[in-house]
Amino acid sequence: MTLDELLKAHKNPLSGDGRRLVTQAYEVAVKAHAGQKRKSGEDYVEHSLAAAKILAQMGMDPETVAAGILHDVPEDTIITLDEIKGTFGPQVANLVDGVTKLGKLRLKGSREENYMENLRKMFFAMAEDIRVIIIKLADRLHNMRTLSALPHDKQLKIARETMEIYAPIANRLGIGEIKGELEDLAFKYLEPAAYDETVRLMQDYADESQQYIEEGIQALRAALKEENIQSLDIHGRTKNIYRLYHKLKKHDMDINRVYDLFAIRIIVPSVADCYEALGVIHKRYRPMVGRIKDYISLPKPNGYQSLHTTIFGPKGRIVEVQIRTKKMHDEAEFGIAAHWLYTENERSIWQRFFVRPKAAEGPAARDVAWIKQLSSWQHEIGRDTSEFMQGLQIEFFKNHIFCFTPKGDIIQLPEEATPVDFAYAIHSEIGDTAVGAKADGKMVALDAALQNGQVVEIMVDKNRKKPNPDWLSFAKTSTAKSHIRHALKREE
Ligand code: MN
Repeated sequence: MTLDELLKAHKNPLSGDGRRLVTQAYEVAVKAHAGQKRKSGEDYVEHSLAAAKILAQMGMDPETVAAGILHDVPEDTIITLDEIKGTFGPQVANLVDGVTKLGKLRLKGSREENYMENLRKMFFAMAEDIRVIIIKLADRLHNMRTLSALPHDKQLKIARETMEIYAPIANRLGIGEIKGELEDLAFKYLEPAAYDETVRLMQDYADESQQYIEEGIQALRAALKEENIQSLDIHGRTKNIYRLYHKLKKHDMDINRVYDLFAIRIIVPSVADCYEALGVIHKRYRPMVGRIKDYISLPKPNGYQSLHTTIFGPKGRIVEVQIRTKKMHDEAEFGIAAHWLYTENERSIWQRFFVRPKAAEGPAARDVAWIKQLSSWQHEIGRDTSEFMQGLQIEFFKNHIFCFTPKGDIIQLPEEATPVDFAYAIHSEIGDTAVGAKADGKMVALDAALQNGQVVEIMVDKNRKKPNPDWLSFAKTSTAKSHIRHALKREE
């Protein structure tokens, strides 16, 4: 890959210092990896450049792209991390070091044990700087794309790890693009027969549907134009293969019952345009009952925003339509990575919550709110105990809901979290002295499941000495549980 090709791939063209940094990394990596080959026979550096290109396409900052280019340098060449630090500065060196450390994970012991250990290391790398994980995802994506060059047993091992660890992490970070491709690639190696069958079903249907989608796009574009709604882009989207397989299994492998195999996606300039466009479409095409979803007012727990509707479209055929702004679209594809594409004020609630950079210095993810809890949990419960890992794993992979304090502060909680979890998420003292709760102004039990978007108010009694031990049976978060235990012990 030429330097020009890499630079051109960037979502936001690099200039000045950023361009210089990437250029220098390119030159150093090409020289350092000179003569090294991959199993496929191509030059080793092509792998590093391909990973960097994925990062560039996501619009990542120059340091991350440079670190992507250099990610295998200290491990596989004579150039040391210190030298990288000297040439590129501490930020790039830290990113490369993080990726190198993650790369040293090796299978040992039982699969279960290894899985937990890998996850643990991922979490801690993430707490340091979330960009390390994004680079690791790009590295893994390119390795998956070129997996055919490896022997079969390695293929299976890597595919399994991808399905169990990397795809869920990409999902949790909202990076739909990478998650979908990782899943499809892993699925192909893990269940080749099911993969082939799904692809065959999809292709038969696709050939027939392609024409229809084209016509549908034309019809919707004309309809919007007539009503003076600007559409920046209208395109068709296909469900990914692995997700389609799951849906097919639910419907006896009958592809005609999967309504969202193809969808028409409309990108408009503003949120108001989204609703207007929905109105225009519903005026012409009857919507299916129960399939209108407003993920703009109420985003999905992983931050996803769009309007969805399933309509009896042109010629009466059922088709799903998704309407969103450009920013919502970028966030749906790139998730946490879109953080680097937008300014602080433009970021979604979810992204602001996830990564809060401190001015210009230091790793961006230093004070990710829930990550900050890691060190305290680790301290309280002790490293490596299964309770710690399980709590963490459940909280990380569970979808999250967002609730609000009466002042409008956002509290992120796992699904089915209770007012007790909410109280402890605010402050341990509020948790310890909680006696009642209101959700959206109505009294609710302390063990009630909170809903996404609710405003929650906790009533406290300052004279109360300790939390109720029964709370342990329904509290969902590790924070709440460990604080309750701690307070009970203290009172004894
Ligand atoms: Mn690599």
